[in-house]
Amino acid sequence: MAAFGTVFMPKMALATFENNSWTASGIVPSDKLEFHPGAHVLHYSSTCFEGLKAFKHADGSVNVFRMDANINRMAQSSELLNLPAIDKDQLGQMIKDVVALYADDVPLPPGSMYIRPTHIGTEPAIGKAAAPTESSLLYVLLSPVGDYFASGAKPLRLLLEEDGMRCAPHMGMIKSGGNYASALGPILQARKEHDADQILFCPNGDVQETGAANFILIDGNEIITKALDSTFLHGVTRDSILTIARDAGMTVSERDFSVDELIERAKKPGTEAALSGTAAVLTSVGTLIHQGQEFTVGSGEAGETTQKLRQMLNDIQWGKAEDKFGWLTKV
Ligand SMILES: *Cc1c(COP(=O)(O)O)cnc(C)c1O
Repeated sequence: MAAFGTVFMPKMALATFENNSWTASGIVPSDKLEFHPGAHVLHYSSTCFEGLKAFKHADGSVNVFRMDANINRMAQSSELLNLPAIDKDQLGQMIKDVVALYADDVPLPPGSMYIRPTHIGTEPAIGKAAAPTESSLLYVLLSPVGDYFASGAKPLRLLLEEDGMRCAPHMGMIKSGGNYASALGPILQARKEHDADQILFCPNGDVQETGAANFILIDGNEIITKALDSTFLHGVTRDSILTIARDAGMTVSERDFSVDELIERAKKPGTEAALSGTAAVLTSVGTLIHQGQEFTVGSGEAGETTQKLRQMLNDIQWGKAEDKFGWLTKV
């Protein structure tokens, strides 16, 4: 099967910001964009994006998961990057319009339609290194995706990195391209030197997140994860899992915790660790690598609670459990 995110629907929704206002959005071919080579985004990285999914239910309906949360985060990213303010209602309509256009192409569970809203600064002005773009493009790309775990996901190996950081701390909560470029060098090095799948960034020993997913630790009936602050990405999956866990009677501790505490708890037999994000929901972590030593998390296998929480979230997404938190938007 094609790699995640390499197949696109042939059309997308698009709107432009110019002369201080948004144009009406339209449906356009998704294989090209036209803007000036001097566009602000290409030089000064005025760009942010979102990632969310639409699911097809047994009754044939197509439902977008947590659309409002993703739109709010995109509004926040745009604001923090000094891009033009998005019109949240317009973006919601763009998502619904383009997903409705391809309703027949939304894969059945465990597949889904991955939705990628993107906002870029397009003003042709290479003198604006320290000034915001006055024009921008907002578009919504679609990519049908299959079962993330089809190839039998093995528990991940994470390198704990205490010296470097994923991105500049004031950029952490912005879903912006430059942050991934910033983390790529260290990740490639960790793969080469430690056969690690990802880096768990722990600046000054404070356990934070990986390059593109949040980190949660499960110790018995308790979930421990870093409390929200401006230094890391506020995952919608993280929030959804914590909400489901609380509702199921688990104790959710959102607080700072150290690499030392992480390793101590990981050594206990029942401990589980997982990465959370839209693509895979929850992926088990089997091994932590720290200062040349390897620590197995719990049994080293995919944890029972991790799988249970993932199933509970999938059941809501797939229409098999009641949408009791009002997370689905029918298109
Ligand atoms: C997108 C992303 C996440 C996960 O966010 P979700 O809303 O759960 O998909 C976590 N960390 C980073 C750095 C991300 O880019």
